[in-house]
Amino acid sequence: MNDRNIHHVRILDPSLADRIAAGEVVERPASVVKELLENSLDAGATKLVVRVEGYGAKRILVSDDGHGMDREDARLAVMRHATSKIRNENDLFAIDTLGFRGEALPSIASVSLFTLSTRGESETGTRLVIEGGELRRTEEVAYPRGTEIEVRELFYNTPARKKFMKAESTELAAITDVVQRVALARPDVRILYSHNDRELLNAPAGDLFERAAAIFGKKVYPKLFPVSGERGGLRLNGLISAPDHHRPSPSQFYLFLNGRPIRDRSLTHAATSAYGTLLEPKRFPAAVLMLEIPHDIVDVNVHPTKHEVRFRDARLLYRFIQETVRESIGRSPWLGGVGTPSGERRTPDSLPERVRQAIFEHGRRASSQSAFPLPGGKGGARSSTDFPPTERPLATEPAEFHGECAPPGLFSSFPVLAQLHNSYILVHTPNGLGLIDQHAAHERITFERLRKAHQAGEMRRQMLLFPVRMDLDAIRLAAFREHAEEIRSLGFDLEEFGGDSIQVRAIPDLLAGSDAEALLRELLDDYALQGGSRMAEDSIENRLATLACHASVRANHALNYEQMNALLHQMDAIDFAAACPHGRPVFIEIGLAELEKRFGRRG
Ligand code: ADP
Ligand code: MG
Repeated sequence: MNDRNIHHVRILDPSLADRIAAGEVVERPASVVKELLENSLDAGATKLVVRVEGYGAKRILVSDDGHGMDREDARLAVMRHATSKIRNENDLFAIDTLGFRGEALPSIASVSLFTLSTRGESETGTRLVIEGGELRRTEEVAYPRGTEIEVRELFYNTPARKKFMKAESTELAAITDVVQRVALARPDVRILYSHNDRELLNAPAGDLFERAAAIFGKKVYPKLFPVSGERGGLRLNGLISAPDHHRPSPSQFYLFLNGRPIRDRSLTHAATSAYGTLLEPKRFPAAVLMLEIPHDIVDVNVHPTKHEVRFRDARLLYRFIQETVRESIGRSPWLGGVGTPSGERRTPDSLPERVRQAIFEHGRRASSQSAFPLPGGKGGARSSTDFPPTERPLATEPAEFHGECAPPGLFSSFPVLAQLHNSYILVHTPNGLGLIDQHAAHERITFERLRKAHQAGEMRRQMLLFPVRMDLDAIRLAAFREHAEEIRSLGFDLEEFGGDSIQVRAIPDLLAGSDAEALLRELLDDYALQGGSRMAEDSIENRLATLACHASVRANHALNYEQMNALLHQMDAIDFAAACPHGRPVFIEIGLAELEKRFGRRG
């Protein structure tokens, strides 16, 4: 271990050193909630309460019914590098307890008005009041077994950090994300979560399926089936959704490594690729996957806030997850297996032809084991909290064209050659061969139309023949209330309908024909579920992109020549200078020179 902090204490006033160190642990209100919840779980809590006021900077309160602390322990707990969880250096590499740095409490206490109330085995409880790292009072109090920590005015004495905080909804979304991850990791623990006295989550202890339904919404419940598998010390358990439930982002995709939430593009890809063609491209299932890996093949102690995890054998892990999920899909009721929370059972015979074909395809691919390019051979894969995952480039990258400076009439001037795999339009270009991703193109067209209409304040509505009533869980209802005006400005006509439901009377006319309920759910998920990092670029344009993505023709859709030509004309009609909604190319070109090289006609 290094002696950096000891060094700091020598040359700096200790409370300043604390505040500097706090920056590593306490990035934002959500990190406070995360640290406190981890401590509560480590203390064996069976019930957690999280209350947030303002955007978390005003007041955060976390209480638990765990084993609590006696007076001496409580005083030690707020001292730097006081921890009951590390005894020797080897412990640093074990991650059985959720926190292990012994820095969280002192760090949080150094940048806030901090009150800790707790009772362990003794009859009386203890209350410590700390302001900006200075212990002001130690009191004896009556307190039930357990611990309550109240953090007020976070960053009041570090204005620079306070400035970094984002809008209230962004910080709240990040906190919600933390709470949801904990809730999914520990369905056996009761959780209450509220914001400004509004209850956002009230989940009794239950099983993982019930907990997932509380978070993802009741309708997802019948779509979930179990995942489990074990091989060579690796274990995977949890649940995942049938291929007909999916999202445009991994907003319902949760991965836990030895009990700790992680985000990892490669492993997310491993699980989603297991669906093969059953899942539409660029879509993500709902999933809660609990991965257990022996400590000697994972190194979590890379960064102080442990966002990054390294795997010694990333390829093995990738295969293990892909194969386990694939086998679980095969056993799932959806494909005629048994054992489902919904009790429903479907046989392959009753599946539509397209799906059966997809399964067949999928099986073939499974045996030929597609070689997904994994990052960096030597040090193993590196994971981070970057979201959304950007697409990995293909191994051989052809020229990409996002359409930035397409001359007018360009696309429709290309003769259409064919449609490939019901997904790509092949065109003859002056330089060689052009490929258009039909879904990306359509999404882009829809997006541009929405954007123009919104900018011009001409988001017209189309009345629904039958208004749609939707039941919302507390988190989405809160998101709806907070963003109702913005949602209306996008062309929806909707209102609360008593209880937990809302009624939708109209949707944007540019999206006519889309499933109103599904559109709104995706939109509300955007607002409610996406964690802070994903909300950083929060803007109307992102919302429009979500709508466009949902309303656009999927890949795997046969188009005739007329339709393909129509799409090319529509591509000409839009302003390609703006950013592509999901930042991926609509058109790529393989030049003649490249073809000649590949055919060995040229060096
Ligand atoms: P760490 O979790 O890395 O040990 P913390 O600063 O988060 O460091 O906590 C310091 C110590 O305070 C913990 O090791 C634990 O003994 C005690 N502690 C913190 N929170 C709680 C709690 N909710 N219940 C019981 N003990 C706690
Ligand atoms: Mg801790």
